[in-house]
Amino acid sequence: MLPWQYWSSSRTIVKMNQKWAKQMQTDRNVTIIGAGVVGCSIALALARRGFRTLNLDTLPAAGYGSTSHSSAIVRPIYSHITSCAIAHQARRHWLNWADFLQVEDERGMARYTECGGLVLIKQGEESRYDANLTAMQAVGVPYELLSAGDIKTLYPGISLASYGPPVPASHDSFCSPSKGEISSGILVPQAGYVSDPQLATHNLQVAAQKHGAEFIFNARVAAFNISHSEKHRIELDDGRTFFSATVINAAGPHSSKINQLAGITNQLKLSTRAMRHEVAYIPANARHFERGGRFLMDMDAGFYQRPDGKDMLIGSSDPVCDPHDFVDPDNYNLEFTPQWNVQTYRAAQRFPEMGIPNTARGTVGLYDVSDDWIPIYDKTSIPGYYLAIGTSGNQFKNAPLIGEIMAAIINTENEGNDHDKHPACLKLPDVGQNISLDFYSRNRDIQHTSSVMA
Ligand SMILES: Cc1cc2nc3c(=O)[nH]c(=O)nc-3n(C[C@H](O)[C@H](O)[C@H](O)COP(=O)(O)OP(=O)(O)OC[C@H]3O[C@@H](n4cnc5c(N)ncnc54)[C@H](O)[C@@H]3O)c2cc1C
Repeated sequence: MLPWQYWSSSRTIVKMNQKWAKQMQTDRNVTIIGAGVVGCSIALALARRGFRTLNLDTLPAAGYGSTSHSSAIVRPIYSHITSCAIAHQARRHWLNWADFLQVEDERGMARYTECGGLVLIKQGEESRYDANLTAMQAVGVPYELLSAGDIKTLYPGISLASYGPPVPASHDSFCSPSKGEISSGILVPQAGYVSDPQLATHNLQVAAQKHGAEFIFNARVAAFNISHSEKHRIELDDGRTFFSATVINAAGPHSSKINQLAGITNQLKLSTRAMRHEVAYIPANARHFERGGRFLMDMDAGFYQRPDGKDMLIGSSDPVCDPHDFVDPDNYNLEFTPQWNVQTYRAAQRFPEMGIPNTARGTVGLYDVSDDWIPIYDKTSIPGYYLAIGTSGNQFKNAPLIGEIMAAIINTENEGNDHDKHPACLKLPDVGQNISLDFYSRNRDIQHTSSVMA
């Protein structure tokens, strides 16, 4: 029997005895709801610090939720310095993944490919990227400004016509050039992607287990009894019950459902919602990666792209013309829709040599989107109940540090400090910054970011 578990075969909850009640005062047990890349990162960071962690997950293995659909792009291109700094530090851990984890996973280790990334800029829209450049300068991320000619050299088959602002497929001008041209680009060499996000999550799990972390799969949390003075009671849909003084919501697109179970939704300033996203996998034209396969962000045409072997993987940059597809994470369409074509046609505008296959291939996944596309890594008004949610389609890259962020917040609270009043900080040694973690506060004012590009 696990230390968290008070469950008899008759499914009656065993009364807490006095010894157990005493243990509660110095309880080091943490229950993490979810074993996606976020939950596993938290398990590793806390287990390394001597906490006894238990991850509960509905699915049969780690990283089988939204993480498994991730494009897993690692880029420091953000409009906020904190986001840029965290992503750039996280990159260092992806580069040295085995060293960071200090473990050998018999399934193999996820691989980070540093292919570099390119942001295309339409003439006259340069100021749109000022904040990104400022953030990269502040953090010390090297970048290069490219001319239209440089871009043509990198991608001989590219069309530099402008197609923006993007319009829906029903619009007369869909797939017709608009006025203007792509005239420059920002090339960021220290960026790339992770080969297999699910494997990376398994790597985190194995590393956490080395420090004693426990995982239970096929375990859906169905009820959650919050206590303000004792341990919280967590009940699975099969009746198993667990008690823990510290509970972390790392349920990804189900985060709002867990907050509902905790009865905390009305107290939160920011909401999180599940948003459906399709990613297309298209065979790349032979010339496409001839001069290097970097990822590309194209807000003008409305898509992003990255290499994936001989494929190119195409996602949406969430242009304002596309309605947000908010869904119930327990009941949504797993099939491709016309959105798949819209994205691929937008990419084909930029790369006219790209063939679009008749059969749609790719993946359908869910983002857990917060109101400002920045995650919430925080405590709550309920003692011992924490949030690692709202990852908004852009936090896979930060997985090596999300656990560190949560550990810093939990340590601050456990030491008797109030993270709301005296925010925990995180040192980022490689970028030489000390980040105040109130950036991720549930109480923050909504920031000015409007899409996954944040
Ligand atoms: C299509 C797509 C593309 C993306 N591309 C990128 C990218 O290029 N770069 C990047 O940095 N990020 C990207 N992201 C975002 C990134 O993948 C996510 O931020 C990250 O994977 C979220 O991890 P998570 O652990 O919070 O969620 P999940 O992986 O969904 O894990 C949550 C877990 O909680 C479990 N759970 C839910 N409810 C319960 C319950 N009641 N009881 C028990 N368990 C429960 C689920 O089963 C699930 O396994 C992308 C995401 C998607 C969907």
